[in-house]
Amino acid sequence: MRYLTALFAFCCFAGHAQSSGASEPLTVFVTGDRVSPPVLQALREAAESAFAPSGVKLSWLEGPPPATGVDGDLVILRLKGGCSNAGLVPAEPLTTEPRTLALTHIANHKIQPFADVFCDAVRRFIQPSLKSAPVRERDQMLGRALGRVAAHELYHILLHTTEHAHSGISRAQQTEPELLDPQAAFTPGDDQRLADSVSADSSSLDAAGR
Ligand SMILES: [Zn+2]
Repeated sequence: MRYLTALFAFCCFAGHAQSSGASEPLTVFVTGDRVSPPVLQALREAAESAFAPSGVKLSWLEGPPPATGVDGDLVILRLKGGCSNAGLVPAEPLTTEPRTLALTHIANHKIQPFADVFCDAVRRFIQPSLKSAPVRERDQMLGRALGRVAAHELYHILLHTTEHAHSGISRAQQTEPELLDPQAAFTPGDDQRLADSVSADSSSLDAAGR
């Protein structure tokens, strides 16, 4: 197994999700290190918001792995590092090199439905904004950033692609403001491809006027 690399802000890919039925959400099984409820809630909301225009619905699982499986496709999202709150992290030496915030696993040249998100790297990446924000807002900011990173990886998984767009959430490199932008979105083209990935009928996207 090898890993695809990442972005300045997000990165890479994950898995092999098969096309879901139109009525079946993509189940995201969140595992790994502890995440506080406020951070996890903000993560979920950011990821759901990112996929809303495409009609891709997400369902969330935590705790013990489901013994009986799930309807539709399952993606494992592993959060690693300090994900429990938006406490500040020690600074790293300045670098112009892209930082890997997340990655998706590839095996036998196929994207796997398994992504890692590196919480400490994300916290460090958005630390300038965290420092200047009220403490009460920091967990939500971290969760929003983690949700955007997760959405980027889920994009790779859903579309079985290592390709990136030139703009939007699926761009390979992101800036800190982009990661925290409440209006961040996939491109309309990405929305259409995502819609097509979960349904042969893309009327939901047409109906949404996108
Ligand atoms: Zn990527």
